[in-house]
Amino acid sequence: MSLKLAYAIVGFDFDSTLSRLEGIDELGVRSGMGQQMAELTHSAMNGQVALESVYGQRLALIRPDTAAIAWLAERYIAESVPGVEALFEQLLAQNKTVHIISGGIRQAILPMARKLGLPDENVHAVELYFAPDGSYRGFDADSPLARSGGKADVCRTINPNGFDMVMVGDGQTDLESKQAGASFIGFGGVVNRLAVRQGADYFFEGDSLTPLMDLIH
Ligand SMILES: [Mg+2]
Repeated sequence: MSLKLAYAIVGFDFDSTLSRLEGIDELGVRSGMGQQMAELTHSAMNGQVALESVYGQRLALIRPDTAAIAWLAERYIAESVPGVEALFEQLLAQNKTVHIISGGIRQAILPMARKLGLPDENVHAVELYFAPDGSYRGFDADSPLARSGGKADVCRTINPNGFDMVMVGDGQTDLESKQAGASFIGFGGVVNRLAVRQGADYFFEGDSLTPLMDLIH
């Protein structure tokens, strides 16, 4: 892969890519179930089990309410990966179409996405449902992002004309975007996974996203 890439559409994973956190793991720690959550997330991200088999299981254990989601939204911003703001500023100034494609909780991701200048419709993640008192009611089980292979489906949906697209992420589910014809850049600066490193068209580590400013043109 060339180090100078011309892409019209840039997709980003969110957890452990734009923010250092795994949101559902954070909610697990907050609710005293950190170890269980981390083990379930880890097995899905390494491709050992299908995402859909752990997605609802994790949320059913935590039952995050609106206060928990507001807390997570702040934590995401506080733990954003260095360089993300300048990177987004550059990509948007270059008139790239930028999307966040995440298996995380959409309401928790939106505040940071707005801060980065993305319109809400470019944030693809899983909606939670709440009761009027703010308690957890469930999640959008029909979302493709709550199952394995879903990121490839979203890539096809947002890019029906097959423009050159690149996806950036840390997980096995991000790698699946290649099935939709996207190039894939692996980021190992938060979590470094061998399978992702091996499957990526390009892979980088380090504590910031700044190298992408030279990679994506
Ligand atoms: Mg991730």
